[in-house]
Amino acid sequence: MLIIGNGAVLTMGENNRFIEDGAVAIDGKYIKEVGTTTDLREKYPDAEFMDVGRRLIMPGLLNTHMHLYSTFSRGMSLPGEPAKNFTEILEKLWFKLDKCLSTEEELYYSAMIPIIEGIKCGVTGIIDHHASYGLVDGSLDILEKAASDVGQRAVLCYETSDRWGREMTDAAIRENVRFIKKKKNTDDAVKATFGLHASLTLSNDTLERCAAQAGSLGTGFHVHVAEGIEDVEDCLSKSGVRVADRLNSFGILGDKTLAVHCVHVDDNEIDILKNTGTMVIHNPQSNMNNGVGSAPLLKFFEKGILVGIGTDGYTPSMLESVKTAYILPKFVHSDPRVGFEESRRMLFENNARIFGKFYDRPVGVIKPGAYADIIIMDYYPPTPFNENNYFGHLIFGMRDNQVNTTIVGGRVLMKDHELVVMDEERIMARSREVANRFWEKIAND
Ligand SMILES: [Zn+2]
Repeated sequence: MLIIGNGAVLTMGENNRFIEDGAVAIDGKYIKEVGTTTDLREKYPDAEFMDVGRRLIMPGLLNTHMHLYSTFSRGMSLPGEPAKNFTEILEKLWFKLDKCLSTEEELYYSAMIPIIEGIKCGVTGIIDHHASYGLVDGSLDILEKAASDVGQRAVLCYETSDRWGREMTDAAIRENVRFIKKKKNTDDAVKATFGLHASLTLSNDTLERCAAQAGSLGTGFHVHVAEGIEDVEDCLSKSGVRVADRLNSFGILGDKTLAVHCVHVDDNEIDILKNTGTMVIHNPQSNMNNGVGSAPLLKFFEKGILVGIGTDGYTPSMLESVKTAYILPKFVHSDPRVGFEESRRMLFENNARIFGKFYDRPVGVIKPGAYADIIIMDYYPPTPFNENNYFGHLIFGMRDNQVNTTIVGGRVLMKDHELVVMDEERIMARSREVANRFWEKIAND
């Protein structure tokens, strides 16, 4: 048993509580009890005690849409004219990159880096969307190893697409099915779902096959929906309907499915998302970076859709992302009243509910029985702080470099800003070597 105490505990969850002289007792992977430091130390006198020195103890942050495989694009420049729209961004950068990812080491290190960086900015869980068409079979095992070696919670899937031909489509489906079966009925920190790229690279035949497989496995999907206007135009020209409509007609939507982006969805599609119970994942920084537009976030909330927030590989940091999610609707609607409540609910309430669908126990909340995924922040409030105003403190006062300690499933991964599970400098150095060879490969492709 481990007690983390002498801190200020913010529990989050339905009965969010702020305990000024708080402590959390951890038993194995799970939270045993939450209370005052004195009470818990008296009750569990034999427990190991971690004194956090008045710091803030809160649930770890969750990222509901990530692309670990995007790491080696960092600092990379591609020859030719810069991509002028979303289709060109896909074709000139991402499709090229995922086709060239072909060795175990490339997959391992490109996953390892953002996992480590996530841990350092307090991200204890990610839902990843993976593509490596140079190495499909077994690729999710390599990501699983990276996540497990560092200790981050992860829901993995393979991005099925017809963009590289029938053989690769078959391999992608096979990889999803294999990994979903492997993770079924386990209490592992790594879980699985079924990945699909996006309507614009998926044929009717492939959608049918994937729906049949996922149906028999009892799983939903993780799919990009109407990210760029090009996805809508492609869908309308090929099938005469819009993207959410098309996916729904194949049984892809539903309450286990993550519909990522939904930037270009109309009111009818928003109704479809709501009526099917589909989860929507908002990625404000990535949308701005790709110049694809701004999702109708306020409408999602008005309709009561479960909307989470992710980073889409743009950054491992949820604090950076939520600050953009907070400020973007104010800019878009010229209205300073909007954005606060939506961004707070996405990061804390909705991301936790979304993760909860993949795990047997609660995630993203400090309460007895939940997974012990906890961060300790070097945050000493300069103004009054409580369970009602914490989000104003987070937006205006909290930064990644204040994440002092990160714990996932009861395992201390970072303590006093120091990664304790591995030698970070050595990992980064090896990653540079692997990435350097990868860049040569992509340049000659
Ligand atoms: Zn994405």
